[in-house]
Amino acid sequence: MNLVIFGPPGAGKGTQSKFIVNKYNLYQLSTGELLRKEIIKKTSLGSEISSTINRGKLVSDKIASDLIEKFISNNEYKNRLIFDGYPRNEAQAENLNKLLSKYNQKINLVLKLSVSLDVIKKRIIGRSVCSICGKIYNEFFNPAPKNTDCCFSRFLQKRSDDTLDIAITRYQTYEKNIKPVTDFYEDTNLLKVVNGETPIDQITKEISALIEGI
Ligand code: ADP
Repeated sequence: MNLVIFGPPGAGKGTQSKFIVNKYNLYQLSTGELLRKEIIKKTSLGSEISSTINRGKLVSDKIASDLIEKFISNNEYKNRLIFDGYPRNEAQAENLNKLLSKYNQKINLVLKLSVSLDVIKKRIIGRSVCSICGKIYNEFFNPAPKNTDCCFSRFLQKRSDDTLDIAITRYQTYEKNIKPVTDFYEDTNLLKVVNGETPIDQITKEISALIEGI
């Protein structure tokens, strides 16, 4: 099965995707993470991406499409993908369908995590990611445990776009583009809306039930 998970920045897409990956042996295709990896390579494409991301805007549809096609076309990931952060606008939603059918695949479920701007602000300001294992923490709601093998404070990193100003712009970018995406998936009956403001475990249970109902 292939899933799409979308929602505003800080909605918990990454946290929930990591859980789904482990439970259902899927692969998380996070366009945000792939773009950040490109930045680390310090290529000219990377510096173009970096300035776009740090303005809270979307990179071009072409860049995003090229990134995901590499995975859709790879047999290793066939029918095992969670699209986290793609699509973000109507053109991307249409493109995703085209790419999937080109490689004889389809989307089985679309999850939308809904979260208000007030909650998002706190989540983003408090967010850090373990640079070793990729686990996501929040200093207010879900702090990193003290005695673990890898998530020591020196390994916890903040994203450069996780400042209040950029987060607000990212939220506005999301709001501006997402209505037609929601309509697009509602029309195909694939869309399930999940309240992203309940505790992480509860959201996880709800998502599991939806996946098992496919
Ligand atoms: P969030 O959804 O929390 O903002 P992501 O890690 O998913 O975080 O994305 C970070 C940034 O990467 C976005 O603000 C945007 O600039 C860029 N990005 C990610 N996915 C896409 C996409 N599908 N199309 C264009 N830009 C993207």
